[in-house]
Amino acid sequence: MKLKEICWALESWAPLEYQESYDNSRLLYGSANKEISKALVSLDVTQPIVEEAIQKKAELIIAHHPLIFGGLKSLTGKNDAERALILAIQNDIAIYALHTNLDNISSGVNAEIGRRLGIQDGSILAPKKGHLKKLVVFVPTEASQDLSKALWAAGAGELGAYDQCSFRVEGIGSFRGSENSNPTIGSVGKREEVQENRLEFLVESAKLSGVLKAMFKHHPYEEVAHEIYTIENKHQDLGSGMYGNLAAAVPVEEFLEKVKNTFGGVVRYTKPHKEMVQKIAWCGGSGSFLLAQAKSLGADVFLSSDFKYHHFFEADNEILIADIGHYENEQFTIDLIAEHLRKKFPNFAVLLTENSTNPINYL
Ligand SMILES: [Zn+2]
Repeated sequence: MKLKEICWALESWAPLEYQESYDNSRLLYGSANKEISKALVSLDVTQPIVEEAIQKKAELIIAHHPLIFGGLKSLTGKNDAERALILAIQNDIAIYALHTNLDNISSGVNAEIGRRLGIQDGSILAPKKGHLKKLVVFVPTEASQDLSKALWAAGAGELGAYDQCSFRVEGIGSFRGSENSNPTIGSVGKREEVQENRLEFLVESAKLSGVLKAMFKHHPYEEVAHEIYTIENKHQDLGSGMYGNLAAAVPVEEFLEKVKNTFGGVVRYTKPHKEMVQKIAWCGGSGSFLLAQAKSLGADVFLSSDFKYHHFFEADNEILIADIGHYENEQFTIDLIAEHLRKKFPNFAVLLTENSTNPINYL
């Protein structure tokens, strides 16, 4: 299989434009036309991970954390990341990273953590703005249904658990074609008035180019009158962190025990402010910036990692903060990526790393 097919399978799931501005999720090394028979999935790319890929004859490493984060002005092997990259280049092993784009989608890192906590239907804790567009297109009334079907098929009009959403209103459109025109209705130089529909669709920004392609293909007019707006609405299925309810309230000690058994490592937590907990908020990776959102939603617990000493005071007897470690809370991301690829390509070999890349040891 070509590397570009694997990239497409990952990017149609976790679009690159959904990554944070500081991130570098993408194909980091390798030719898009390279043939790949086996991929190794890992949280990080380190020298032992590249060595494992060499040993297992995997031509591709798919990692959550990008090996190249900022600009690379030299490549001399001065740190582990550079040595890992040099080793990958010498052995022609491609490297792909999907990081905050996988954090931000509703079927990504946080959905997997939710599943491990026993919460299947988590909602996004901090939904993002700026990723929803409104497409307005004018079309002759009789062509309205066919055009709508084509746009829905391309991903327009999806809203939460609903698809095929649209709005239409009928009116009169007018136009006059110049001598360079070839009008579908009417004739050159003569003003026409046509019964038209104004169609409106909500479109996710990642799907806009595909929707426009379908619009131009299926619209009967030579010139397609249309408008695209960026709207202020938050995207309910895109953003940082998640929250949801356990099936039933459980004693706080029982919940913490389950967290410890599920994720391992060490659980650092603040003084419990209530005996029973049910509403849980969580964020894979470093999520301390979401504490205020978790509190405002009335979550009993906020589970994440990389809290500093002073952050713990901010629980302020209103929420229980549980810091379970960065590696620990993201460790199941590799299962998530592998499962996605195995479903897409049942005959493609996807291996999970057998190496822990956690740089932290506990005594
Ligand atoms: Zn992370």
